[in-house]
Amino acid sequence: MMEFLLDLLFPPKCACCGRVLASPRVNPCPDCARALPLQPDASVLHTGPYGLCAVAFRYEGGVRDAIRACKFHGRQSAVQALAPYLVQAAAEHLPGQFDAVTYVPVSPKRLRERGYDQARLLADAMARQWNTRVEPTLRKVRHTKAQSSLEGAEERRKNIAGAYAVLPGAAVAGRRFLLVDDVVTTGSTMAAAAEALRAGGAASVVCAALAAPEGENFENKP
Ligand SMILES: [Zn+2]
Repeated sequence: MMEFLLDLLFPPKCACCGRVLASPRVNPCPDCARALPLQPDASVLHTGPYGLCAVAFRYEGGVRDAIRACKFHGRQSAVQALAPYLVQAAAEHLPGQFDAVTYVPVSPKRLRERGYDQARLLADAMARQWNTRVEPTLRKVRHTKAQSSLEGAEERRKNIAGAYAVLPGAAVAGRRFLLVDDVVTTGSTMAAAAEALRAGGAASVVCAALAAPEGENFENKP
């Protein structure tokens, strides 16, 4: 009943195109769902300086709009609606490879401005699927320029290297992690976060990202 009233007052909108949904529980809308840039099978599992990464979408079209809406316009529902696709990609490509779910955090300043961490929203969905809780394990220890403002892979790698450290008291040693982020482009951010977990004694780290640009070849391969 409550849900019905809420839907009436605030009709749920499609995560991708923003139109009011005909059936409120189906998000994104059927038109957008059909047009989502799902990764072709062969490239769903990327390899980069971070190790293995399951990727659900190409970073374009409705998915890019949804991620930007989430980052810059405070629409958490946009990324939450796409999270099930990432759950599926990880279930298909990384089965049995992790026991704990964590994420690449934004800086405390960014978190205050935005009110939520979009990678954590995705990690929450992953954790629910695997009947566990998200474990925050990392923090950003120094300010970095926005990766999207930098041109080359080398510049991005330098900008972010050493920017993450294990949170004091986080149980990292000897454990196998799934590390979640929203977008992986050159892979430098994911690599820096994975490196911090490994330096903290993690037994292994595999990654999952909602989207990666098409043809991304991860210039800084190991
Ligand atoms: Zn739509």
